[in-house]
Amino acid sequence: MSSLISGSLDVLQQVFGYDSFRGDQQAIIEHVQEGGDALVLMPTGGGKSLCYQIPALLRPGVGVVISPLIALMQNQVDALIELGVKAAFLNSTQDWREAREVEQAFLAGELDLLYVAPERLLTDRCLDMLSQGRVALFAIDEAHCVSQWGHDFRPEYLQLSILADRWPDVPRIALTATATSETRREIAQRLQLTEARHFVSSFDRPNIRYRIVEKNEVRRQLLDFIQSEHPGDCGIVYCLSRARVEETAAFLCKSGIEALPYHAGLSATVRAENQSRFLREDGIVMVATIAFGMGIDKPDVRFVAHIDLPKSVEGYYQETGRAGRDGQPATAWLAYGLQDVVQQRRMIDDSPGEDVFRRRLGAQLDAMLGLCETVSCRRQRLLAYFDQQIEPCGNCDTCLEPPEAWDGTVAAQKIMSAVYRLWRERGQRFGAGHLIDILRGKQTERVQQYDHQSLSVFGVGADLSEQAWRGVLRQLLAQSLLSVDHEGYGTLALTDGSRAVLKGEKTLMFRRESEKKRAARAKTGSSRSKPEIVLPPEAQRRFEALRAWRAEVARSHGVPAYVIFHDATLREVALNCPQTLEELGRISGVGSRKREAYGDELLRCVRAV
Ligand code: ADP
Ligand code: ZN
Repeated sequence: MSSLISGSLDVLQQVFGYDSFRGDQQAIIEHVQEGGDALVLMPTGGGKSLCYQIPALLRPGVGVVISPLIALMQNQVDALIELGVKAAFLNSTQDWREAREVEQAFLAGELDLLYVAPERLLTDRCLDMLSQGRVALFAIDEAHCVSQWGHDFRPEYLQLSILADRWPDVPRIALTATATSETRREIAQRLQLTEARHFVSSFDRPNIRYRIVEKNEVRRQLLDFIQSEHPGDCGIVYCLSRARVEETAAFLCKSGIEALPYHAGLSATVRAENQSRFLREDGIVMVATIAFGMGIDKPDVRFVAHIDLPKSVEGYYQETGRAGRDGQPATAWLAYGLQDVVQQRRMIDDSPGEDVFRRRLGAQLDAMLGLCETVSCRRQRLLAYFDQQIEPCGNCDTCLEPPEAWDGTVAAQKIMSAVYRLWRERGQRFGAGHLIDILRGKQTERVQQYDHQSLSVFGVGADLSEQAWRGVLRQLLAQSLLSVDHEGYGTLALTDGSRAVLKGEKTLMFRRESEKKRAARAKTGSSRSKPEIVLPPEAQRRFEALRAWRAEVARSHGVPAYVIFHDATLREVALNCPQTLEELGRISGVGSRKREAYGDELLRCVRAV
């Protein structure tokens, strides 16, 4: 780096074009710059990259970044080069000639940052090369990949403790967005970072609006949500299975939305192609399994939707965190229903392995269900999961449109006694649909076949709609006050917890969407709680012109548009109308290299509109 730049703030302003550090960034950077080890926990989008990039620029030698995300290294390196940083990567996508060039650049001390995949790093050739050059620091990105419990487990990560042995004097910084205290202990221990200083940031992402809705016709609900709240926006839709990814992507495409599928069953070529389109084009919706997303640093993802219940709060928080990294308003939307609970409980019961493993999955699911059914602030619940406390947030569905809590004890007793009687009196078990028919007194074929109209509970629940009953059942299953017996049929049975409810020793309060809200939505087709970014018309026109200019530049450089400038930066330019290069330089996201390269064109573009 240029010798004119001395401190970390200088680098932030001149290279990255940002005014000030966020959260713990400065403390982390200074600690590592002075040679200390660090374990950094920050939510997705919190700004982890700068925590190793800046000390790498300030310390002599090359910063070596270990990242499991080969498919994204090219992007990360391209973005750094745009900023004027000398960066390169080593991974299996290169041929030997390209790799040798990078190695030579490293040895000649010509690099600031080198990205390496863990399996590559652990080869003798690479370790030898690193010993012959000068390493400024090791950054271990996505450090939760050492955790055998998580779904991102990478066996090679376990061997990274070798770095501590071979380079005891080189600082190491491990970073992750996945952070229960358990995961954190595991990372510290396995990476030999027990002596490292821990930096735990607030996990709050205030610009993300959390919403969890009752599922009925999920595809139509998803389409409504996208069309009414995020038309033309870039987003991610998560599904649990490959088949569901395929059918949902096809459905969205048919409805006029540019959607692409992504799951582990697609060939590597198709996955790479779809990922690259998602990153490069505007307004693509990626429909994916959880195989997609780690390390995707696209800043302008405006929504993350889940149409199946995620398996844990930890996973859900990471996935939703991919929305709104640029700090602008974004939505996390989840639709969930009775069937999700039934299906997930079944998957857990059927999963192979030891009981302790199943218990752990069960506890994770319970926490997720607790979040879905809560009548208090969603964000409070989410952050409590990471041991952090906040006041009610004012930017989630429960804060904005408080649900009604209602006493569902009697309803629960009715269902439970129906289950009990069928079993005691007739030795029969049935699934949710038929039980609801009995309670509502519906004369179906099956009711007649089994003479269920003669049961004393027949018709005792006519006061609640079918949907309301599904809600009751869902909440009972969520709290394990009823269980589903699988064997492939999904029949309902009482649990140990049912007794207290039946005996009237326990009151149950359930969540219900307020009727007013339901009515309002039926009228307008959507929720009124839509996060918006509004520019005055003049500025909006300039913004559009700037985006068109950016698209051209990005295409000719072969990089995603956000690598040139973020939307947030262009929006600020459109709003403030800078007249000189100096004024332009004061806008967040315009560093010295970009001002030099694009400043004149930007000013011309602003003047022309
Ligand atoms: P993550 O923690 O998920 O790795 P990133 O490092 O990708 O997050 O940062 C998220 C976004 O925030 C990026 O677009 C980055 O440029 C931006 N950012 C990071 N630090 C700052 C800062 N101090 N000021 C302004 N923007 C920042
Ligand atoms: Zn809230």
